Amino acid sequence: MHFDVLTIFTEYFDVLGFGLLGKAIDGGKFSVAVTDIRDYSQDKHKKTDDTPYGGGAGMVMTADPIVRAIENVDPRHEARRIYMSPRGRKLDQRTVERLAKEDGILLLCGDYEGVDQRAIDLCIDEELSIGDYVLTGGELPALVVINSVARYIDGVLGSDESTSEESFSDGLLEYPQYTRPECYRGMNVPEVLLKGNHGDIAKWRREKSVEITMQRRPDLMAKADISPLMPKKPKKRRK
Ligand code: SAM
Repeated sequence: MHFDVLTIFTEYFDVLGFGLLGKAIDGGKFSVAVTDIRDYSQDKHKKTDDTPYGGGAGMVMTADPIVRAIENVDPRHEARRIYMSPRGRKLDQRTVERLAKEDGILLLCGDYEGVDQRAIDLCIDEELSIGDYVLTGGELPALVVINSVARYIDGVLGSDESTSEESFSDGLLEYPQYTRPECYRGMNVPEVLLKGNHGDIAKWRREKSVEITMQRRPDLMAKADISPLMPKKPKKRRK
């Protein structure tokens, strides 16, 4: 899997050098190329924005540097081209799993008041939002997409279980987790987790997942898979 990111603030993506993702990139599990849109500006001051037609606050990113940058990094339109935008479809786990099946993803980060519509119409396959709020730029949203999708790439996470038994994997929120010590400040780990009966543990976890989802996100319940009281088998990951 290869990600191309187009931005005017390339430094944001330095964080990809850290932690699990940094290790996975070093190990060749996936790759990320960050392109500075300014490099494609034909303006002598490398300008990439201008005032909006029709008036209004702020600046709009001009179409030409964006279109030329996209045509250069993805000349045959092989990548899934995504514009990060509050107007986009809201990112959820199902979308993450769908994107993890792509071989290449191109992420366009808007800044200022956004991007000239013609760049979107000419080059973009879909718009994605990370939630109903507005950020200053598309860089953090693009990092959210890379992080969430990369977790499904083979070899990025430690064990296959990690994506199969967590929140949203079956439409439910995750059960409570505990680790040592057995008693902390007078609070004990639920007994069922100490007895080693895998059937009972799976049943307890499933019941807790349903309970927590009903309390916190009743909207998820209608679509959730609550039929069997057993965790699902791990899903196959992408290379
Ligand atoms: N004027 C735009 C609007 O009202 O929809 C907001 C522009 S925002 C200040 C600048 C850029 O940040 C956007 O072009 C987009 O790339 C990114 N952005 C902001 N909020 C976002 C969100 N919730 N999801 C994805 N991208 C977002």
